[in-house]
Amino acid sequence: MPAPVLCAICGAVRAALRRPKTGQALCRACFVAAFEAEVHGTIVAARLFRAGETVAIGASGGKDSTVLAHVLRLLNQRHGYGLRLLLLSVDEGIAGYRDDSLDAVRRNRGRLGLPLHVVSYQELYGWSMDRIARHVGPRNNCTFCGVFRRQALDRGAALLGADKIATGHNADDVAETVLMNFLRGDVGRLRRCAEILTGGEGALPRCKPLKHAYEKEIVLYAYFQGLDYFSTECVYAPNAYRGHARALLKDLEATRPSAVADLVHSGERLAVREDVRMPTQGTCRQCGYLSSQPLCKACVLLEGLNRGLPRLAIGKPGRLQKALLDGEKPETSLREGEDSRPASQGSKILDF
Ligand code: SF4
Repeated sequence: MPAPVLCAICGAVRAALRRPKTGQALCRACFVAAFEAEVHGTIVAARLFRAGETVAIGASGGKDSTVLAHVLRLLNQRHGYGLRLLLLSVDEGIAGYRDDSLDAVRRNRGRLGLPLHVVSYQELYGWSMDRIARHVGPRNNCTFCGVFRRQALDRGAALLGADKIATGHNADDVAETVLMNFLRGDVGRLRRCAEILTGGEGALPRCKPLKHAYEKEIVLYAYFQGLDYFSTECVYAPNAYRGHARALLKDLEATRPSAVADLVHSGERLAVREDVRMPTQGTCRQCGYLSSQPLCKACVLLEGLNRGLPRLAIGKPGRLQKALLDGEKPETSLREGEDSRPASQGSKILDF
């Protein structure tokens, strides 16, 4: 009988897994310790936090944000970061997906002992994602959802007085985003997407403490720690462009296990030619949110929905943006019985 493989770190216990990131055979305890030490190393090396800061953890109920909340709370205590941690969730209004994942966040709130605040699309924009999907059709839902979520997190964090937002983006997410932006030729986003800390210039800083953690290792860590998370995919996800980048990345990883780390590294090292014009940040004329255009993307998308012209709002600045800037009256193409204006858009959003 072959001799059992012992843990490459402690050498005392039989190995329980081979690390996807390094190929090392490790026991459960050494893997958990290595994972936590690496996240701590990432936080320290990038100086992600300062003592006394209030950090809103974007909590979706999925594996990444559940592991992030667990590890950040643990490291905050273990290493005395001096952070005030909060959970901040966005309810997009996706039946059978977000309602169930928010239940997982609520269960974790009790387990972690952290305060939880939930902001919803319905409350902020007057539209749920399910209703948006009924108007927009099966494609482009993630365009609306991504833009609205970004603002919703910022608005929620501002309401809570947070100094920073921490998100659960992992190495696979960053690698996929590098691929997507490269395939789309989106130079502006390509430059920023691999950064571990973004924001500044008036925007609330956002950081990714799990930036170097492989998705497979996050799943293993959650399993070994017995964490409670929600793992069903969003009902609109199969139509997302990201899915193609993910499939491509999985293929690359199957032949070259370091493909994830390589792409993250490439994103960090990419230099944009000096003569490429980058967008300059200003503020949206309508809601005051940061924007490189006279109107922010959320206001344009929302106006497209409210005018019954959602497709016109997608893509590069065009007819709808021009009409809005020219102050044209909204068209009344909504169906009978539907709100023509969301309850809280306008005055409430302008207040932030
Ligand atoms: Fe929103 Fe798309 Fe993610 Fe679903 S898959 S939560 S629609 S961004």
